[in-house]
Amino acid sequence: MAYQTSIVWFRNDLRLRDNETLFRANESSKTLVPIFVFDERHFGATRFGFKKTGAFRAKFLLESVADLKRSFQELGSDLVLRVGKPELIVPELARQVGADAVFFSEESTDEELTVERNLKRALHTHTIKFHTVWQSTLYHKNDLPFSPEKLPDVFTTFRKQVEKFAKVRAPFPAPKTLNPIPPSVEVGAIPTLEQLGLTSPTDDARAAIRFKGGEREAWKRLDDYFWKTDSLRRYKETRNGLLGANYSSKFSAWLANGSISPRTIYDEVKRYESERIANESTYWLIFELIWRDYFRFLSLKLGNRIFKKRGIKNQPVALSQDEEKFQAWAEGRTGVPFIDANMRELRATGFMSNRGRQNVASFLVKDLKVDWRMGAEWFESLLVDYDVASNYGNWNYVAGVGNDPREDRYFNPLRQASMYDPNGDYVRHWIPELSKLPVPLIHEPHKISPMESTLYGVELGRDYPRPIVRIKSAE
Ligand SMILES: Cc1cc2nc3c(=O)[nH]c(=O)nc-3n(C[C@H](O)[C@H](O)[C@H](O)COP(=O)(O)OP(=O)(O)OC[C@H]3O[C@@H](n4cnc5c(N)ncnc54)[C@H](O)[C@@H]3O)c2cc1C
Repeated sequence: MAYQTSIVWFRNDLRLRDNETLFRANESSKTLVPIFVFDERHFGATRFGFKKTGAFRAKFLLESVADLKRSFQELGSDLVLRVGKPELIVPELARQVGADAVFFSEESTDEELTVERNLKRALHTHTIKFHTVWQSTLYHKNDLPFSPEKLPDVFTTFRKQVEKFAKVRAPFPAPKTLNPIPPSVEVGAIPTLEQLGLTSPTDDARAAIRFKGGEREAWKRLDDYFWKTDSLRRYKETRNGLLGANYSSKFSAWLANGSISPRTIYDEVKRYESERIANESTYWLIFELIWRDYFRFLSLKLGNRIFKKRGIKNQPVALSQDEEKFQAWAEGRTGVPFIDANMRELRATGFMSNRGRQNVASFLVKDLKVDWRMGAEWFESLLVDYDVASNYGNWNYVAGVGNDPREDRYFNPLRQASMYDPNGDYVRHWIPELSKLPVPLIHEPHKISPMESTLYGVELGRDYPRPIVRIKSAE
């Protein structure tokens, strides 16, 4: 054993299985002191004044940490909990227990890297060693067939190269038992949502799925989606859906805080392929995980460019910060039902499908001409699965300031509605006041005639807003 005592600082890697950081710490240390710090800055406000972590994700995080704590207790150890700044708290704990080293997982974006740098500096001052592990992606950073600075500008080039030249590493086993943490350490408690300045969100019965945080729940979801309902078999055909639990995997929330690793999901896809079926759908789930990797590596390469209005391309964009338009968008009252239904789902549940996200983002930027960063921050606040790189990377693409080879991609909401919600079921689900309208009026209530208005009991401007922009026809 290299070390008597090591600290394992948990970040977005809230799991025991396939946690290389934990594995490395455990193989080289007699005693581990695992710690999670609720970073007080994550519960402040964003630049545009939204809560940086809204109630949906905060609740999911509390559940995830509780689950991890239970897992450590079952192994004979425990998870130390604090609220504050990790770069101050972790070195302090290390000093208190006389730790030889601190282990933690690497992140890729600015705020997280700043914390890492400050932590390393503090540890250096106290001559405490540190070890960092890259483990947030499917393909390991060191296995890429190019250095991260040479990441291809186009996703397809990236994908083809990693598929051809890189291999996904095997997952790491979870520890079987652990020594108890030193008795002198005060374990600390999980804060309540109220202590974090939030109120508990109400469960909405219309939600596609009830997200519950934690490694156990992540595996339950995987078991359900792959093995029990066999939904993976049809993923490629269903993934653009809008209603229900199984049109897509819903793995995103657990992936975002690391309750499950992309490598584990890959491993399970391979098992599914050998035991059930290998088809375009099984491949497509991996394809999407490669998109996730791409945005993560892009954030590593480009640093703060992904957060700038001009984006990855450094392209000037004429976008306003019109408060009224933004509020109408955020509250789901733009007068375009397909957009409003998606925005209401997000507000009520913390989740929205990928098809929905593309449409509402495009609408905010291309139709309302509002600064895409306001939308990205709204997502940051509300999404249960918020992931810095995936969120800002996707917003760059949709806003037209990313590396999208398809120049100026536009999602026409009427055309998209007719393709993905042909019978209006999704709009009816989230906008009950329109539920009596038939197709095509359900997607174009602004075309309602006085007679139809009486017939269906829907008056524009009273029951549902008039469109706040001129709606382009679906052609
Ligand atoms: C404007 C916008 C913002 C987004 N913000 C986020 C975010 O904050 N966090 C997040 O995880 N995803 C984000 N996405 C990507 C995508 O919408 C979600 O990952 C997906 O909808 C989650 O549902 P799922 O797990 O059922 O996905 P599935 O379709 O089942 O996909 C499986 C996994 O692949 C990954 N994935 C799928 N699509 C993408 C994509 N376009 N980019 C990156 N990874 C992808 C996710 O990890 C996902 O869990 C965003 C997309 C857009 C257009």
